[in-house]
Amino acid sequence: MNVLVINCGSSSLKFQLINAETEAVLAKGLCERIGIEGSQLVYQPAGGEKEKTLADMPGHTQAVQMVLDALVNEKTGVIKSLDEIGAVGHRLVHGGEKFACSTVITEEVIAAVESCNDLAPLHNPANLIGVRACQELMPGVPMVGVFDTAFHQTMPEKAYLYGLPYEYYDKYKVRRYGFHGTSHSYVSKRAAELAGRPYDQLKTIVCHLGNGASVCAVQDGKSVDTSMGLTPLEGLLMGTRSGDIDPGVMEYIAKKEDKDIYQIMEILNKKSGVFGVSGISSDFRDLEAAAEKGDHAGVRALEAFEYRVAKYIGAYAAAMNGVDVICFTAGVGENGPDTRKAICDYLGFMGVEIDDEANKVRGEERLISTADSKIKVYCLPTNEELAIARETLALVKK
Ligand code: AMP
Repeated sequence: MNVLVINCGSSSLKFQLINAETEAVLAKGLCERIGIEGSQLVYQPAGGEKEKTLADMPGHTQAVQMVLDALVNEKTGVIKSLDEIGAVGHRLVHGGEKFACSTVITEEVIAAVESCNDLAPLHNPANLIGVRACQELMPGVPMVGVFDTAFHQTMPEKAYLYGLPYEYYDKYKVRRYGFHGTSHSYVSKRAAELAGRPYDQLKTIVCHLGNGASVCAVQDGKSVDTSMGLTPLEGLLMGTRSGDIDPGVMEYIAKKEDKDIYQIMEILNKKSGVFGVSGISSDFRDLEAAAEKGDHAGVRALEAFEYRVAKYIGAYAAAMNGVDVICFTAGVGENGPDTRKAICDYLGFMGVEIDDEANKVRGEERLISTADSKIKVYCLPTNEELAIARETLALVKK
């Protein structure tokens, strides 16, 4: 069965058409600037050239229509008719406490996701617009929702509660939820396969280090803690997000700079992280280039990032009373040997030993620890689209 995987944002829509049995990607691409002047479709069939088509996309329905047209196009299409799409898998960001696993999308499910909109006001409504657009253009095709938060619903109370008055949890469900769940789940399962160990008897720490970044402790196949919280702002320093800070900093800066809470949130989300600390860029390639030239601004941002990741790994090793496997994934995790090495240099006390030759790897699955290392360390590319296609197939087949 072919599964169309959709990741819909407020002005963009990423897609992949995947043969869920062979797991081959038949075509992929994205629609950019939906609802904005200059919208375009980027489309790439497997083994073919990337093509860009400028076209008016006033809304997501037009964007989905462009994608479907491209998939069945006589010259560059990969299927003959839309009947060859057996199901659609949607990435949904926030399922609150309502969704602990993926689910077939019904009207009740849409209402339940809408009830979580306050928790992810930028993402959930956009995700649902994508669902509605697909329903309109592919009536009768089953749709599945795969939540970023669902994998972390196994976190125990002690890990998900904030040290706040309990009434805020009771009344508003203010708690830690965590994100990147599809990635943490995929990578931790794959690591168990690579290590030849049963998933339900393994302690794994997954470092998803991309522009957004989070660490997850996976014990016996369950997420027991993760660094993001109510929103994706908590935890690591990220590309532009601050991660953990003393909340007192917010009041202090607000007073000094005469800013309101929304302006402060904008700073914490868009102007902080390695971008803010370096004043150079949110992209690790730029920071590494700056550091190589001896620019301390690049060095201080990279060091602050690495130190924070190492601290979380130490914390999660304590949370699980040990760790068997550490994985690095996403943009920086998969492509940054120097960052991986610098993080692992903090972990010698735990018996982590990196094989410098093996660590010279980008974007490939590889064991990067030595044979003597007490903990196996992997570079392990994530594949959220494939994970969504798998979940979709499993639910639609039932
Ligand atoms: P993601 O959000 O997973 O797509 O990751 C994006 C980030 O990965 C970019 O901001 C870069 O900082 C980082 N990245 C991508 N390629 C490389 C590379 N070759 N070396 C270092 N960092 C990279």
